[in-house]
Amino acid sequence: MKEFNINNLLRDNIKNLKPYSSARDEYKEVSGDMVFLDANENPFQNGVNRYPDPQQLKVKTQLSQLKGISPEHILLGNGSDEVLDLIFRAFCEPNEDKIITLPPTYGMYDVLANINAVENIVIELEIDFQPNVDDILRAANSQTKLLFLCSPNNPTANSFESEIIEKLITSFQGIVIIDEAYIDFSSEKSWINRLQEFPNLIVTQTLSKAYGMAGIRLGVCYASEGIISILNRIKPPYNVNELTQLRALERLSQPEDVSEEIKRIIEQRDWFISELEKISFVQIVYPSDANFVLVKVDDANKRYSQLINKGIVVRNRTNQPLCENCLRFTVGTQMENIKLIKALKGL
Ligand SMILES: *Cc1c(COP(=O)(O)O)cnc(C)c1O
Repeated sequence: MKEFNINNLLRDNIKNLKPYSSARDEYKEVSGDMVFLDANENPFQNGVNRYPDPQQLKVKTQLSQLKGISPEHILLGNGSDEVLDLIFRAFCEPNEDKIITLPPTYGMYDVLANINAVENIVIELEIDFQPNVDDILRAANSQTKLLFLCSPNNPTANSFESEIIEKLITSFQGIVIIDEAYIDFSSEKSWINRLQEFPNLIVTQTLSKAYGMAGIRLGVCYASEGIISILNRIKPPYNVNELTQLRALERLSQPEDVSEEIKRIIEQRDWFISELEKISFVQIVYPSDANFVLVKVDDANKRYSQLINKGIVVRNRTNQPLCENCLRFTVGTQMENIKLIKALKGL
């Protein structure tokens, strides 16, 4: 790509922003017993009476060891949804700038575009669920600030080919966001290992899926120090609460437990796929690099309601492009998966 200068992509108000300085920002880890009378907190200890660390340094340090990425390249948010919203607010001028998304994909990109009054240019995936590089680059111009690549993609469950991703990162003149919510289930490598090569790359991950912590809301953003420092300036100061930080630390310190669960989910996924292929009204079981499976059936609306009547909720994706009559099944526990397969066989 041409000489990359982040200032050419940032909104003017963000370039000139003077961030809110919280009471705790002024105190920098002084050792010894300090008396904190700076933030109008209640002094009686109950575990959460103090404001949380706005920089979540302990969690970042833990993540940094796990992923081999230094803390200056990490930003944490209240779920990836907050991280994605911060990216919009940093780079997209309302009613002026645009983004590019590749449906069928995660619905939040379009919702966030609408909330931020940013036009979403839609370039559908090819029939094999890979991005069409030429169409994307043809649609790109100086106003298309963000390109969202979800890999493995939700709801199609495939990863994008790495040559295609690389071509897009190097040719697209804005910021490329790779949403790796499902990377831990994938056979592909994470792009966080290549951040140094691509100054316009942002990679997002989450503790909501493989890490089993959707309830605590913790999203992770990896990018250049320049991008991270900008997002840091616009994030709400205490966006990751103390309970979330504590639970995340606990979980991140037991990576073997997480790996074991991932292994079991993948085993279940592969069993589940082989069983789905035996069901008479199943037409296509798409390969999966994630913890869910996209399945084309004879009549998605009918099968969806039949499953609801049997007490099983799945996701009906029939109205998404390229997903006519498709259902998306999350891989559950062995018992849940057996229950679903039995229910499908009985329809
Ligand atoms: C589930 C999911 C997320 C997770 O969002 P959180 O806000 O971190 O829970 C992000 N991206 C995609 C594509 C997802 O499917």
